[in-house]
Amino acid sequence: MRTIARRVGMAVLGATLLSLCASAALAGGAAGQLGSILKRAQQVHDLQITDEEEQKLGAAVSERIRQRYGVVQDPAVHKYVTLVGAVLAQASDRARVPWKFIVLDTDGVNALAAPGGYVHITRGALSLMKNEAELAGVLAHEVIHITEKHTMKAIQKGKMIQMGTSETLSSSPALFNKFVDKATEGVMAGFGRGEELESDEKGLILANKVGYSPTGLSDFLTTIKERNSGSTEKQGLFASHPEMDERLKKLERGIADNKLASTATVEARFKKNIPYQPVPLGAVATVEAGSAGLTGGGSAAKSSDAKPADAKNAKPEDAKKDDQAASDDGKKKKKGFGLSKLMGSGGGEEQKSAEVTGSAAGRGLDKERNAKGGANPAPVAVSVTAADITAFKKEGNLN
Ligand SMILES: [Zn+2]
Repeated sequence: MRTIARRVGMAVLGATLLSLCASAALAGGAAGQLGSILKRAQQVHDLQITDEEEQKLGAAVSERIRQRYGVVQDPAVHKYVTLVGAVLAQASDRARVPWKFIVLDTDGVNALAAPGGYVHITRGALSLMKNEAELAGVLAHEVIHITEKHTMKAIQKGKMIQMGTSETLSSSPALFNKFVDKATEGVMAGFGRGEELESDEKGLILANKVGYSPTGLSDFLTTIKERNSGSTEKQGLFASHPEMDERLKKLERGIADNKLASTATVEARFKKNIPYQPVPLGAVATVEAGSAGLTGGGSAAKSSDAKPADAKNAKPEDAKKDDQAASDDGKKKKKGFGLSKLMGSGGGEEQKSAEVTGSAAGRGLDKERNAKGGANPAPVAVSVTAADITAFKKEGNLN
């Protein structure tokens, strides 16, 4: 008991010093005996991570994601998605990151951003989109997770990784692997509310900047909401969850506040390049949460009579009704998202997340996340030149 109390006391002291230290840039020498305590407390938080390390880490995380869901072995689809992504990435704050856009071979609807420029979007997500502006909206949101280094910051804020005083990601494979574990968990589970809203708003601005209609993301989220509202599954509550409505309202406000008025939707080009039909939620085959990566067997239950257009006919009234039903139900399924939850209470001061929306592509729904994946994790090589991007922008009336 005593030991525990003392340890807690020290941790609190350490934390206080840490914040003082951060603001006053206290020199190590002056701290005397406290130095070692301080050092231990600071390690993960203060670890300098180079862009190169971040990129290597992202590559490892991406490999796990690819193992889990498989990769669509279609160079044309990859080239198209890469072109849309490249237009956005070029206009972002981190244009020089070696961006990769990867289409995952699963009916589940999801999008996942790994550090260092690895953006993943599922075949299922593409199948629900109506035009290029929606794709751009989702990709822009994921790009912002990376430009803002949300995963790296969450790991460091969590302080749950133990490390030796002189370790760096490059010098210690063990530390590197711990980061890969935490980053993968975090990416799969989704970010916190603050990160999501930040990605939403900055993503809107980014998509608009290159000429896409800024309503792309909210149009897509609305489709997801409607897709899930028809589900009898418990997870389907995601569809009409108040957080989703809050998020949609914020998106609308973001467009108004920032006076975003771009108009390109590029529907014809999207339809020409993306051949997928959505698989209804009820027909999405899943795997046990624990058996990630071992799914094998190609893509699941392809339903050829699936119609993509249900969403188009849905009315706001229906949506409101659903919300009402959900709240009457009294099931405020506040799933904790983000790394702070996964890492236990270590995320302490981090805002407790009421996030249920996960990524732009609806990570809140277990069925989508636990969807079965394809068997081939091999990346599909795509070569996109500067001239390709210029031509692509011109064709789509983009900036
Ligand atoms: Zn997100």
